[in-house]
Amino acid sequence: TSYGFRTVADGEKQVLVNDVFHKVAKRYDIMNDVMSAGMHRIWKDAMVTALNPPRRPDYRFLDVAGGTGDIAFRIVKASDREASGVVLDINGSMLGVGAERARKKGYDANLEFVEANAEELPFEANSFDAYTIAFGIRNVPDIDKALREAYRVLRRGGRFLCLEFSEVEMPILDRVYDAWSFNGIPAMGKLIAGEAEPYQYLVESIRKFPRQQDFAAMIERAGFDRVSYTNYTGGIAALHSAWKI
Ligand code: SAM
Repeated sequence: TSYGFRTVADGEKQVLVNDVFHKVAKRYDIMNDVMSAGMHRIWKDAMVTALNPPRRPDYRFLDVAGGTGDIAFRIVKASDREASGVVLDINGSMLGVGAERARKKGYDANLEFVEANAEELPFEANSFDAYTIAFGIRNVPDIDKALREAYRVLRRGGRFLCLEFSEVEMPILDRVYDAWSFNGIPAMGKLIAGEAEPYQYLVESIRKFPRQQDFAAMIERAGFDRVSYTNYTGGIAALHSAWKI
């Protein structure tokens, strides 16, 4: 199968995404380092610094598309192990790797792993102080629906943070990035994971994701206030922030 550069219908999209992450789960963490030249660590650190979780045991966060736990582990650490939360992902293989990592870190008491869809969160309204999603929302077929769900499960005063690949807003860097992502990333995928197609699909999904301003408008439409964004590394990634007031 080739997920290459064809148009994928919404219904079909989730099936392809699931297939990609089942295939890469075990090697996901190393692939992340290779693909982003280690930069994803800096961006994720910056995201959790922006969140600034309080050292309070009643602080509860939801990390959607949490995969192997990178964001959740950082939040627990930043709260001095006080915060607790849910790592939610549609893919059991990714969650399995995450749960194992959580055990090794001694974070099991802080974290719960839930297999579910970002479009239909299995939680009551007003249940969380923070909703985070990193490099996940572009994979969700109905982004508006996922944003409305984020709004619903947050408490008043709750924070929404979304880290995602975005539109490079720096000359020259945009060309280098294009060359790397269209040729380099699938090639590295083939080298390390034995397959280029899943990575081609991922590169394509980044291209289709709305640019910074447009995504900010979508977040506002879902009901959020004080929507803003910060570019990281010239816009290769961007952090969108918003509040439920
Ligand atoms: N947040 C992690 C990180 O930053 O390392 C994982 C990001 S990984 C690129 C994207 C994740 O989104 C995958 O684990 C995938 O299974 C998950 N995902 C895709 N579609 C989803 C959906 N509809 N609902 C929840 N998770 C989804």
